[in-house]
Amino acid sequence: MPIDEIKTICFVGAGTMGCMNSLVCGMAGYDAVVYDISEEALAQVHTRQTMIGAGLVMEMGMDQRAIDDGIARIKTIADPAEAAANADLLSESVPERLEIKREIHRQFDELCPPRTILTTNTSSLSLSGIESVVKRGDKFAAMHFHGPETLVDIVKGPRTSPETVDILKRFVKSTGQYPMILKKEQPGYLHNTMFIALLKASALLVADGIADIEDVDRSWMIVQQASRGPFGMMDGVGLNVALDVVEEDYKLTGDKGSKRMVDLLRPYVARGELGIKTGKGFYTYPDATWLKPEFLSIENS
Ligand code: NAD
Repeated sequence: MPIDEIKTICFVGAGTMGCMNSLVCGMAGYDAVVYDISEEALAQVHTRQTMIGAGLVMEMGMDQRAIDDGIARIKTIADPAEAAANADLLSESVPERLEIKREIHRQFDELCPPRTILTTNTSSLSLSGIESVVKRGDKFAAMHFHGPETLVDIVKGPRTSPETVDILKRFVKSTGQYPMILKKEQPGYLHNTMFIALLKASALLVADGIADIEDVDRSWMIVQQASRGPFGMMDGVGLNVALDVVEEDYKLTGDKGSKRMVDLLRPYVARGELGIKTGKGFYTYPDATWLKPEFLSIENS
């Protein structure tokens, strides 16, 4: 059930996250507008959401009718002022580059009505580095998504008001997700701090010639009883996004594991093989081997 303070959400960035998160909010009964600098990306939003919806029906048993109703609540708009005009909440999911995110928040701070809460979905950038460009620091926070029916990290910036945190917490719950309020900024938040460590370890196993991609994924899936392994997960996240995150981690920490992961990912990104969204990444889609039941069969081992 939507909360009173929020009726319309403006999603900035129509990539993997903008498409997924606007769909989740549409399904929860919110009106959503999606804005992107690329008209091509905007033209694909409803098609991508129909594909995401088919996956949600198959993998999570979601109701097709709820997905269709959710998509019907989502408009795409190519003009930023028009996209901002009725927003109660803004969720930014543009590429993981500080300068792009700062520019978007500077622009939408000017365009949005005073009531709008601005949020960033950054995976690893400094929240304070983004929030310093907005005048409405009391209505600014990180709201970092993981996918439907999971959790959303909420992190205060230096000026975020308790009311803003409260509204975001109730909003996240109203979308059927678990709000995870962090006590302070942490690149990678909670789950991704653990997840990136797993990805780095997986990349090293392959780069050092200890195992191939399939066996790394198999071992994780079998022992953890997980639906996908680290490389299948990276294909879902998008290899460009994974690369941005580990490049940032390498810049911050100088960690050798991050550098090895950067070296592993860079050639894929240079070839435009970004994972599920481009049909090819570590695996080839839609018939990736890890999606087939025989991937885990003992006979095949
Ligand atoms: P993506 O590459 O799939 O999409 C980014 C979109 O932003 C593109 O459609 C691009 O055209 C658009 N864009 C670029 N510059 C723009 C601008 N100036 N104005 C408006 N739109 C612009 O990326 P994504 O996977 O959706 O990730 C976006 C953000 O969300 C990143 O910060 C990423 O770290 C974060 N994130 C991603 C995931 C994930 O699983 N992919 C999960 C959590 C958070």
